Amino acid sequence: MNTQKKNKVKTVFAVSLTTALLVTSLVSIQAPGHANATGKPAKAGQPTKASQQAKNVILFVGDGMGAAAREAIRLATVGLKGNLAMDSMPYSGLIHTSSTSVVTDSAASATAYASGVKTYNGAIGMDANKKSVKTILEYAKDAGKSTGIVTTSQVTDATGAAFASHVEDRKEQSQIALQYLTKSKVDVLLGGGEDFWFPAGEAGAFKDEPAEDPSEKSKGTQGNLVSKAKQLGYSYVTNKADMQKAKGGKVLGLFANEEMFQQNEEGKGDLYNPVVSLPEMTKKAIDTLSSNKKGFFLMVEEEGTDEMAHENNAALTIKAGQELDKSVQVAKDFAKKNPDTLVLVLADHETGGFSIEAVDDKDESGDGISKEDGPFNIANSKDQFFVDWTTSGHTAVDIPITAMGRGAELFTGIYENTEIFNKMAKAMGLNIKK
Ligand SMILES: [Zn+2]
Repeated sequence: MNTQKKNKVKTVFAVSLTTALLVTSLVSIQAPGHANATGKPAKAGQPTKASQQAKNVILFVGDGMGAAAREAIRLATVGLKGNLAMDSMPYSGLIHTSSTSVVTDSAASATAYASGVKTYNGAIGMDANKKSVKTILEYAKDAGKSTGIVTTSQVTDATGAAFASHVEDRKEQSQIALQYLTKSKVDVLLGGGEDFWFPAGEAGAFKDEPAEDPSEKSKGTQGNLVSKAKQLGYSYVTNKADMQKAKGGKVLGLFANEEMFQQNEEGKGDLYNPVVSLPEMTKKAIDTLSSNKKGFFLMVEEEGTDEMAHENNAALTIKAGQELDKSVQVAKDFAKKNPDTLVLVLADHETGGFSIEAVDDKDESGDGISKEDGPFNIANSKDQFFVDWTTSGHTAVDIPITAMGRGAELFTGIYENTEIFNKMAKAMGLNIKK
């Protein structure tokens, strides 16, 4: 891209970021949160009173969804004058994403969020010395809350796994599934990845080696974990109708062999059309978990925003982001009726070096280093934009977080990913032993 344009794009982002931070600090001044009975804000380390605690926490992770991807989702969905559900929240901040490496993966990032430690890429619920670290979901469970993991990826993939299991390598997905059932006892598990729940030769609900991806087949290493789940009292479902009918406090929904979509370059077998949508899964999880009077902790992940960005597929990165936004709306609707709920929307890291450019015929195009992708229509206007990528991997840029509800004011500022654990624990009034 030419330098002039680069500068222009940078300026736009600098302005919107400054605005976001300004708005954040103004809101903080006007509405000091965590005020105690005397009206003074609670000091750090001071236990939060029950009346000030977040009974429910719903954490949304748009995997790989950096600031520019989030902006592209906004432009494509509501246009320049609109705001996404995930952006229409009173508090915002920025998160540094490094693991023990500069550029994190989803496993280390989720471990930082879930347990408050910086660890190596690939680690699930373990610190840099491979010692298990208790997770926010496990603390919430100990406090009597219900817990859930919802994702369009394998339900045992890195992001969810780091909240409810402890293994040295994210690839140990059957071990992760076993720990969900027998150790962390997660109440609601909805997502893909049935291949890790059935041993080789037992296809499960989705046939082995399907045409859309012949590499997908059962490869569980811990026996038939679906049978085990049923013995432990889970309702097991594999489609939308059965999911919506499922009764009881424990639900296991497995809706694909692997991811609930096919990540590929545009026009090369790429497909984002989950058999159960993320908003539908989110709704079911909230309906199920909210029957617990002590509240719940729920992590909801959209994985398409990362996997499609790895393929430099902007169209489906945006589509996946739109599904995430609809899911956030489901949570906001719940939070409006239940003000003791905290809703957070963040990413684990940025993927693709995603940038937004003006339409320009003279700009380089598809040279293999920097790929032009688009054009995409800006909603409610005649304008368009292009997406440009710098990598098929992750990047180290800060990512935005937005927050609403009880304790949301804790999430303003610029801070390390490990702080998310501390802030969620404080918001819930959990007793953390380290
Ligand atoms: Zn990734």
